[in-house]
Amino acid sequence: MVEKYQLFVGGEWVDKKETFDVINPATEEIIAKVPNAGKEEMKLAVEAAVHIQPEWADTVAAERARILVEAAKLMRERTEKLARIMTLEEGKPLSESRGEIAYAISFLEWFAEEAKRIYGDTIPSNSKDKRILVIKRPAGVTAAITPWNFPAAMITRKIGPALAAGCTMIVKPSEMTPLSALEIAGIFEEAGLPKGALSVVAGTDPAELTQVLMEDIRVRKISFTGSTNVGKLLMRQASDTMKRVSFELGGHAPFIVFPDADLDEAVANAALAKMRGMGETCVAANRFYVHHDILPAFTEKLTARLQAMKVGNGLEEGITVGPLIEPAAVQKVEEHVQDAVSKGAKLLLGGKRTESEKGFYYPPTILAGVTEDMKISCEETFGPVVAILPFETEDEVIHKANDTRYGLAAYFFTRDVGRIFRLAERLEFGILGANDGLPSTAQAPFGGVKESGLGREGSKYGIEEYLDIKYLSLGGISAK
Ligand code: NAD
Repeated sequence: MVEKYQLFVGGEWVDKKETFDVINPATEEIIAKVPNAGKEEMKLAVEAAVHIQPEWADTVAAERARILVEAAKLMRERTEKLARIMTLEEGKPLSESRGEIAYAISFLEWFAEEAKRIYGDTIPSNSKDKRILVIKRPAGVTAAITPWNFPAAMITRKIGPALAAGCTMIVKPSEMTPLSALEIAGIFEEAGLPKGALSVVAGTDPAELTQVLMEDIRVRKISFTGSTNVGKLLMRQASDTMKRVSFELGGHAPFIVFPDADLDEAVANAALAKMRGMGETCVAANRFYVHHDILPAFTEKLTARLQAMKVGNGLEEGITVGPLIEPAAVQKVEEHVQDAVSKGAKLLLGGKRTESEKGFYYPPTILAGVTEDMKISCEETFGPVVAILPFETEDEVIHKANDTRYGLAAYFFTRDVGRIFRLAERLEFGILGANDGLPSTAQAPFGGVKESGLGREGSKYGIEEYLDIKYLSLGGISAK
C-alpha cells in the first residue's frame, strides 16, 4: 500500500499537488508519496520559526526538558512502527532499525538533561568597581540538513540539543528517507512543542530548499550531516550571513589490528564496524591494516564470519545485510571492487552484485592485497567491502592511517596500554575505538577533524553548538 504523507510546516500538516515517491530499496516498490516542498514551504517554515523563537528561548529549561522527555517516551512506545518505516525506506535490517530508534531516543533523553545545565561563569575583574558574568543564550533559529543512512538518529542528534538550548529548528531530511523525519515531527507535536518551533520540509531539490535557509540572516546556525562535497558548498554559502556551522561529513576509517590483539574480539568488532548499515555509515571501517604475523588467521576468521551473513529484505527474519540505498550506490561499490581487482587485489569473498529480480543488493565482500593506489584505499566506499592491507611497524601504520583527507573514526586492536596512548595521540581522527568497533553513544562528543567536519554532536559539548556566549560587565559595584 502506498502511504500518503504531509509535510510539517510551522506546526501545520501541509499537502501539495506535486508529490515525490519514496522507494523501498529492497523491492523497488513505491511505499509513500510525500508533498514535494519548494521555496514557498521553506519560507513559511522560517517565518514560523522566527515568530516563535523569542517565546521558545524564554521557556524555562524544565519545560523544554519535559517536552523532550515526552517525545522520547512516545518514540519508545512506537519503536516497532518507527523501525518498520525505517527499514522500508532505508533498507537496514529490522533489528538494526530498532537499534537506531533506541539510539535516536538516547539523544532526546541526554539533551533533556543538558537543557537544565546551561551554566554560565563569573570571572574576576581587574577593577573593584566591576563584575564580569558570562551568560549563554540560544543561537536563535537553526536548520538541520540530514542524510538518508540514519533517518532518525541524525535528526534527533540535532533536534535534541537545538530544542534543549532554546533554539527553534527547521529540518530538511534526505529526499530518500523523509518518512522517519515526518514521524518524528508528529511525535513532537503530540509532546506539546509550540507551533513553529520545529518544521520538517522535504523535497527533491535540496539546493533550492537550502538556498532559502542559507540566504536568510535570521537563520543563525546550520547543522549538516552528509557528504564532504555538499558540506563544503554549504560552508561557502554560510559565509554570506556568517552563520554558525556544524559539519558531520564523510569518513574513511582505518581498522588496525596488532599481533597482540585478541583476535576473536578484533574479528567480531571488524564485522560490526564494517557491516552495520551494509557499510553505509560515515564511521564504517574502510581500510583494514592487519599485521603480517596475524594476516592469515585474521583473514580466515573474518571471511568465515561475513560468509555466514544473510543478504535480503531487512523485514524478513534472520536477514543481517539489507539492500544498499539506490542503484548508484551499488555501482560505486562495484567500481571500487573492479578497480582494486584490476590493480592486483585478490577477491576472497563476494565481489559480484547479488542476483535478485528486484532490490539494490551487494553481498559482503573481502579484498586481500589492497594497495594505496586503489580507489578503495582513498575514497569512501559506502558498501559492504573489506579491504585488507598488511603492515609491519607501528610508525608505518600510523603514517598510512593518517594519509587521508578524512578524520572521522579510527579503530585499533591491541592489548598494549602504551601503544593505545601513542595511537590515540597520533592518529588524526575525532573518534577513536581502542578494542571497540562501536564507539558511538549519546554522552560522547561525535565528530571529525580535517575534511570530516567541524563541531561535535552529543555529549556536554553538543549543546554548546547551539548557544551563544555573552558577557555582562557590570560596573558601579563599589559603595559611594
Ligand atoms: P549528501 O551530502 O548527498 O546529502 C546530505 C543532505 O544534503 C541531504 O539532505 C541532501 O538532500 C542534501 N543535499 C544534497 N545536495 C545538496 C546541495 N547541493 N545543496 C544543499 N543540500 C544538498 O549525503 P548522503 O548521500 O545523504 O549521505 C552520505 C554521506 O553522509 C556520506 O559521505 C557519509 O559519510 C556522510 N555521513 C556523515 C555522518 C557523520 O556524522 N559524520 C553521518 C552520516 C552520514
